Amino acid sequence: MRLDVVTIFPEYLDPLNVSLVGKARARGQLDVRVHDLRRWAYDRHSTVDDTPYGGGPGMVMKTGPWGDALDTVLAEGYEEGARTPALVVPTPSGRPFTQKLAVELAQRPWLLFTPARYEGIDRRVVEEYATRMPVYEVSIGDYVLAGGEAAVLVVTEAVARLLPGVLGNAESHRDDSFAPGAMADLLEGPVYTKPPVWRGRGIPEVLVSGHHGRIARWRRDEALRRTAANRPDLIERCDAAAFDRKDREV
Ligand code: SAM
Repeated sequence: MRLDVVTIFPEYLDPLNVSLVGKARARGQLDVRVHDLRRWAYDRHSTVDDTPYGGGPGMVMKTGPWGDALDTVLAEGYEEGARTPALVVPTPSGRPFTQKLAVELAQRPWLLFTPARYEGIDRRVVEEYATRMPVYEVSIGDYVLAGGEAAVLVVTEAVARLLPGVLGNAESHRDDSFAPGAMADLLEGPVYTKPPVWRGRGIPEVLVSGHHGRIARWRRDEALRRTAANRPDLIERCDAAAFDRKDREV
């Protein structure tokens, strides 16, 4: 997968060199290019923002530098053989970024991110590129950050771990919170590792029973308990009949 990020703070994306994403890049599973938007500014102050039409506080990012930057990055990508890009626009007014959306984005061969600053990007930029490619306006939560770079890190990490071969164990994300499947829409329950007793605290007996059916049932029950406590809104979406069918199998 190819990822391009256009930003006025390229150094903010340095974490993409470490851990899972960094390793995926080193192995050639992920091709990440970070571009400084100011390269496409016109004046000697490298201005990329201006006052908003209609008045009000804050500044708005200008169409010119964004248009030129995106045209150049797209042309370079096409020239190198990249195909079917999608624009990912971080914004608090976008659709919520969910695991389902991460799965959808992980299918795409090329993502182009436009993290903004100030009051965001002049609307005409999104409108222009929406005529040429799918545009995903995504919010990583109901709060307002100073810029979209942190959102790019969040989306990239969630997407990268779904790419084939990126996680050491391909099964690792199967039981994650929100993962599609029998436990869809449930949060993952608690997890344990050695030693069996720590500061007088043991582990649930069932986990060392060797009985896979009972372990799966215990995990399901804990997931339900945790979801009911922390995200009652998700419980309403659960397929209770599917759980009943599973129980009959144990
Ligand atoms: N005035 C904008 C509003 O209220 O919707 C907020 C602009 S914010 C200060 C600057 C930039 O940070 C946004 O354009 C976006 O790129 C990014 N950003 C802030 N909060 C975000 C969120 N929850 N999810 C994704 N991106 C966010």
